Amino acid sequence: MSPSSEFAARVEIALPVPVDSLFSYGVPAALAASALPGCRALVPFGSRSMTGLIAARHAWTPQARALRAVTRVVDPEPVVSSELIRVLVEAAGEVFCPVGLALACATPSRSTPRTAPGFAITPRGREALARGAAAAPLRPLLAWLDQVPRARAAIERRFRSAGALLRALERDGLVAPRPVETRAAKPPTRRFAALAPDADLEAALAGPLARAPRQAALLRELAARGPSEAAALGGADPGTAAALRALVARGLARLEERGADLPIAAASLAEDERVAPALTPEQREALDAIAGAVHAQRYERFLLHGVTGSGKTEVYLRAVAETLAAGRQALVLVPEITLTHQLVARLTARFGERVAVLHSQLRPGERIAEWRRLLAGKTPIGVGARSALFAPLDALGLIVIDEEHEPSYKNEEGFRYHARELAARRAAAAGCPLVLGSATPSLETRFAADRGELRRLVLPYRIGGRPLPAVEIVDLVEERRLVPRGRKLVLSRALHRALGETLAAGAQAILFLNRRGFSPRILCFECGHAERCRHCDISLVYHAAEQRLRCHYCDYAVDPPESCSACGAPDTALLGLGTERLEEDVRRAFPDARIARLDRDAAARRGATERVLAALAEGRVQILIGTQMVAKGHHFPGVQLVGVIAADQSLHFPDFRAAERTFQLLTQVAGRAGRGAAPGRVIVQSFVPDHYAIAPVRLHDYEAFYAAELAHRAALGYPPFGRLVHALVSGPDAEATAARAAQLAELARQAGGAAAPGPAGPPDPAVAAFEVLGPAPSPITRLRDRFRFQVLIKGGDEKRVITAGRALARAGAGEDAHDVRVVVDPNPVNML
Ligand code: ADP
Ligand code: ZN
Repeated sequence: MSPSSEFAARVEIALPVPVDSLFSYGVPAALAASALPGCRALVPFGSRSMTGLIAARHAWTPQARALRAVTRVVDPEPVVSSELIRVLVEAAGEVFCPVGLALACATPSRSTPRTAPGFAITPRGREALARGAAAAPLRPLLAWLDQVPRARAAIERRFRSAGALLRALERDGLVAPRPVETRAAKPPTRRFAALAPDADLEAALAGPLARAPRQAALLRELAARGPSEAAALGGADPGTAAALRALVARGLARLEERGADLPIAAASLAEDERVAPALTPEQREALDAIAGAVHAQRYERFLLHGVTGSGKTEVYLRAVAETLAAGRQALVLVPEITLTHQLVARLTARFGERVAVLHSQLRPGERIAEWRRLLAGKTPIGVGARSALFAPLDALGLIVIDEEHEPSYKNEEGFRYHARELAARRAAAAGCPLVLGSATPSLETRFAADRGELRRLVLPYRIGGRPLPAVEIVDLVEERRLVPRGRKLVLSRALHRALGETLAAGAQAILFLNRRGFSPRILCFECGHAERCRHCDISLVYHAAEQRLRCHYCDYAVDPPESCSACGAPDTALLGLGTERLEEDVRRAFPDARIARLDRDAAARRGATERVLAALAEGRVQILIGTQMVAKGHHFPGVQLVGVIAADQSLHFPDFRAAERTFQLLTQVAGRAGRGAAPGRVIVQSFVPDHYAIAPVRLHDYEAFYAAELAHRAALGYPPFGRLVHALVSGPDAEATAARAAQLAELARQAGGAAAPGPAGPPDPAVAAFEVLGPAPSPITRLRDRFRFQVLIKGGDEKRVITAGRALARAGAGEDAHDVRVVVDPNPVNML
């Protein structure tokens, strides 16, 4: 049978498979009217059937004779606009992502039908049923299958010993296996796992997990992947669930049911939130610029650069109102759900039912419902995390990205897009402005403003003339002189005194331990000096197994110095300090104070975070000790003092953005103080108070930090100068993986036209046009029994860097005899 003569057209379909191409199918005459670009269609693929998105449609030509036919068109009308399809195809190419995986993001997962194994009655079965010839025990099932084919799972739910019945029926040829389309039913809730916010990886791995390899592997996996669906963790290892429970019990990981009801607290907002206040002159100027582009339907990028509390959100709200007035739709992106609530609440207070919330914490069913509301044009405003960028808003008039510097705007799996770049593409295609808002813009964004690629709108003052909190930086090197050698210094005199004064005044304090799950063990205990790579200026990481310090960028390695190379102190040690130890010391110093701790232990207990924060809000807690969890978004008018115990810890993270993250974090923490009527006070303890990422925090001087960091990046050729491509090569066999990584690095070198490096690493730390660093072990050297190596391609010649990256990605995409996998990221943000 040749169905080709019946084909009315040829379509290109994007299928969710890791192959970078679209697939051609024939459109039977019966589907000619419905098989439109933007509709999803069910098609045969190999021996399976699959749902994909029709990306393009062409006239049929006889050459297309051999094509297979589209089985069915799923959507009655297009659900993804041609504009969005084009944007995603281009963006996929840019980040080396197979086009089908990128386009799969445009429709919510599980909103498409899937097929499951099942059974159908055969003609012979039908005959046997009609003649009453089937054995009695088999008849009920046969009769049920006579209605429609059923999924195996459905049969098992309805019939006891379904397996035996099916075997008997199949043996007699009365039924036959047949894939069955399952409806896009309401999927079950999904559980997500994440590292506890301040889990100390190294301490846990060296201590309690040393003899729990499964838990150790799972912890490393969580560190590398970030928050992940629990079911997707641990490969096929059946012990994963138990290991995860154990990690949760130890307070190292957290579980979350996604789909918790969104507390859209519109009603709880003050009445005046619903009424727009009169704008300040600076807000007015910013709004006019944005509204001009909205009404002209002009693509233009803006950086709304305003200190915390300067009224950025109010400008967003007004710009959204202008967009609706112009008859268009607005998309507002926020970094994460914990920060979303406030913005969502304010949007809802102002715009009510016209807001659709789209973020990954919605249950799939809720997500689909919101997506459909947008699709039907019922809600002109979409708000959500980065994935809201795929929202079906076809008359986009404005895109806002709040806190644009947040790392969570980068998608770290599959389609590795950065929300900033994808948003720019969408805005350009739609002809609308893109507004990036932040108090501490990313270097990339701020630099783009310098180059005139986007327009910088500045809100320099807090609303109501409220002062920014005074920040004092305490030099821990000085303070150390007062403490016996070998003893850890926790509270400086200044912080101790300030805590006392705050308590005496009846006010509250937050003590912040700037700790990340990963600490290099190379910080001098006496002076705070950390060893850095001579080539890359990246902190070296101590490898216990080989007792060497290693650079994770270029693989430069040295023996740890006998004594600190800066101050000559006899031993080097980790500046490790846990929140528990901190709490102990603070309790000893202030025995009468009401103290609470917010960290992994606290967060592990359900609802405990909310309880602690509520206690702080109600004044029942006087001193809150916490980690990053306390840094963001919260608003506690009673907090007058914020103390940062060890500002340097994040500075020594082996990442070229460590200084930027440190400055952003400290500025954010400082913004927690003095949000009420009384002025705030911030004390930052540091071994390197003059460091350019720490000193400018004192005067909230973003520009000073920016200038210094920019010079630094330029000198070393890190973004925003030139490009950086990161390749992660992992495999179960250390030697084979290392060999493959070396081979891929060599291939990248050739593709980009570089000479091989000499034996002592890259020759010159100055900006090179093109260089390939590594392979070097990844900072997480081993994960789930896979060894990990990284290769960095970097340089000022963007074309060569990208060409080499693409060549590496292509070479790494194929099958490998040693099960080596390669992930290439042309815009790396998290390089663990
Ligand atoms: P940001 O987003 O920059 O942190 P917000 O927009 O949240 O700042 O503004 C801080 C506070 O000031 C909010 O409570 C907001 O309602 C209020 N606010 C903003 N703009 C004005 C204004 N023009 N007049 C009075 N209050 C304002
Ligand atoms: Zn190096």
